[in-house]
Amino acid sequence: VQRLGAISEKPYRAAQILEAVYKKYAVSYNDITTLSKPLRGKLAVQVPFPVIREASRQISSDGTIKFLFSFQDGETAETVFIPTEKRATLCISSQAGCKFGCGFCASGLGGFKRHLLCGEILAQVLYVQKEVKGRVSHVVFMGVGEPFDNYENVLAAARMLNAPEGFHIAARHITISTCGVVPGIERFAAEKIQVELSVSLHAPDEAMRSRLMPVNRRFPLTMLMRACRDFAQKTNRQVTFEYILIRDLTCTPMAAKELVKLTKGWLAKVNLIPYNVVKEFPYLAPSKEDIQGFKSMLEREGVICTLRTPRGSDIAAACGQLRHVKGK
Ligand code: SF4
Repeated sequence: VQRLGAISEKPYRAAQILEAVYKKYAVSYNDITTLSKPLRGKLAVQVPFPVIREASRQISSDGTIKFLFSFQDGETAETVFIPTEKRATLCISSQAGCKFGCGFCASGLGGFKRHLLCGEILAQVLYVQKEVKGRVSHVVFMGVGEPFDNYENVLAAARMLNAPEGFHIAARHITISTCGVVPGIERFAAEKIQVELSVSLHAPDEAMRSRLMPVNRRFPLTMLMRACRDFAQKTNRQVTFEYILIRDLTCTPMAAKELVKLTKGWLAKVNLIPYNVVKEFPYLAPSKEDIQGFKSMLEREGVICTLRTPRGSDIAAACGQLRHVKGK
């Protein structure tokens, strides 16, 4: 509305544009036939649609589709569509590249390029919905980038995903995932939006976490866990901890014991992710028995936990593999 006001157009035009974009999947002003031709031309120049171009697409044998998108300036980001019987989940990117360099994640290998704008984040959802000819039911900010490092754009995008005049996706079906940027968690706790919080924990003690995730040197585990407990207390919402299972490192009985100490007895849930081998890194995938043993130890202690089924690993779309094959 503000941008339309700035070019002397009536506020009701915003509703027409939103309706066309979010309900009828318009991807350019030319698709919005409720606007006059001269107005379409004026808007295209003064309030341009975000440019998103499909650079490549890979389809997994399990139905997962990985899109590589390029934006106006040629920067790229990946988006993964994960359909199941009950859900159509989209894993979206919030930055082109990532500066956090987690030790098992291919997304950080190429370094940081830039933040994605709110429109570029939403364009990923719009594009995929149009391509798959259906609605995305769940959105996770778990693609390339650290969402809380691009806080304003990510929150604005989450609001539009949730808004009735936007994508109208239930807030509980939208998840923002952070590698542990504590100020972002604190700020997010005060937002009036019921979007889910997920934290990439991946290691149960300071030394191991600093080794795997450099962010731990800036925001140590103790500080992170305090922020997460405060978040749960303040919002009465559960915090999901993503935990990667690496053979002989994070997937050991000792590590399970430490993880129980961190997550037992409060609104926490653990999502176990068996490590996907990425050839640049020295880590190994755990055995089925080790995974099961780890999960049972947590469950015996009453920790709520789930085991993530790997999706799209044949096209490097599984967790931590993004940008591994395509790169830049
Ligand atoms: S896990 Fe997330 S924060 Fe860490 S390097 Fe990968 S994209 Fe960045």
